[in-house]
Amino acid sequence: MNIAVLPGDGIGKEIIAQAVRVLRRLELPLELEEAPVGGAGYEAAGDPLPEATLVLARKADAILFGAIGGPQYDALPRDKRPERGLLRLRKELGLFANLRPARVYPELAQASSLKPELVAGLDLLIVRELTGDIYFGEPRGIATLANGEREGVNTMRYRESEILRIARVAFEAARKRGRKLCSVDKANVLETTELWRQVVGALGKDYADVELSHMYVDNCAMQLVRNPKQFDVIVTGNLFGDILSDEASMLTGSIGMLPSASLDERGKGLYEPIHGAAPDIAGKGVANPLATIISAAMMLRYSLQRATEADRVEAAVHKVLQAGLRTGDIYTAGMRKVGTQEMGDAVVAAL
Ligand code: NAD
Repeated sequence: MNIAVLPGDGIGKEIIAQAVRVLRRLELPLELEEAPVGGAGYEAAGDPLPEATLVLARKADAILFGAIGGPQYDALPRDKRPERGLLRLRKELGLFANLRPARVYPELAQASSLKPELVAGLDLLIVRELTGDIYFGEPRGIATLANGEREGVNTMRYRESEILRIARVAFEAARKRGRKLCSVDKANVLETTELWRQVVGALGKDYADVELSHMYVDNCAMQLVRNPKQFDVIVTGNLFGDILSDEASMLTGSIGMLPSASLDERGKGLYEPIHGAAPDIAGKGVANPLATIISAAMMLRYSLQRATEADRVEAAVHKVLQAGLRTGDIYTAGMRKVGTQEMGDAVVAAL
């Protein structure tokens, strides 16, 4: 199995180093090859996505990505900025399915802004469609009407084939978890999502082992803060998913703990923490590597079909938290404060 390792910028290098140690400890037949991306790509080759990095990512079975960005790159022309590297990579690889788990380890429940009993043990997954919907639909633009007034237009569009492929990813993910899928739409008002509901419902017949339900997006936004533990997997379109996945991630209260995956049609994926390059703490050895280590566990589960090893990595992370180790971002009084390297050491030892 070939893994492209793209550390990127800032804390990217520090956190990826720990995830790589964890992967190596599993003693699987993994070939890990590293390449620069983002600001590091610009410095190495004048391009945030150097050709050699793209070639490596294309031929890999999965990509482990750190983070990109930093204030030193803010003045570059738009197409040279680090973010362009990541956006282009997603596009070039056809990554249309975004998987964002939100899991609250009981030990970290106090970090949430919700009551600990509402979120302790929470484990949900949002599957968001990434390449369609109102963000890409035509016609779009701002036009001036005959009376001189301006009008803004965007178009919500989904084809059956686009709905089917994201729904299939969600049903498959539900099969690997609690076998419950909630499809979120606004079918009472929007025809696009009426079609969404029909297509997901019809596909549900092929997945009789997964319990399918439908929910309107406004209700879902409310249920996520009222009783988030009712959900296992949520599937939704690009616009609703953008908002709901950020809402769900904040239920956990700790940005340094949250992994993500973006998958293509064949299940190949790019795995990355949801946080950025954190220039304020880069180089200090204090960044939390757990979001990246849990992203590596997702990679084992979703692209490499190694569920046992994924479980082992997640169990090791849990064990380290139970033992009271905390990086600064998740630290509370009475716990043992550790740096990036020591957290990595502990996970490797727990494995
Ligand atoms: P950020 O996620 O980098 O940091 C936000 C805050 O969270 C900072 O205080 C940071 O120290 C803290 N933080 C983030 N990750 C942490 C970790 N693992 N451990 C401990 N603390 C952590 O967001 P930002 O400050 O808005 O952006 C910084 C740079 O990162 C920008 O250049 C931005 O464009 C880029 N960025 C990249 C990605 C990505 O690579 N996917 C995502 C978001 C932002």
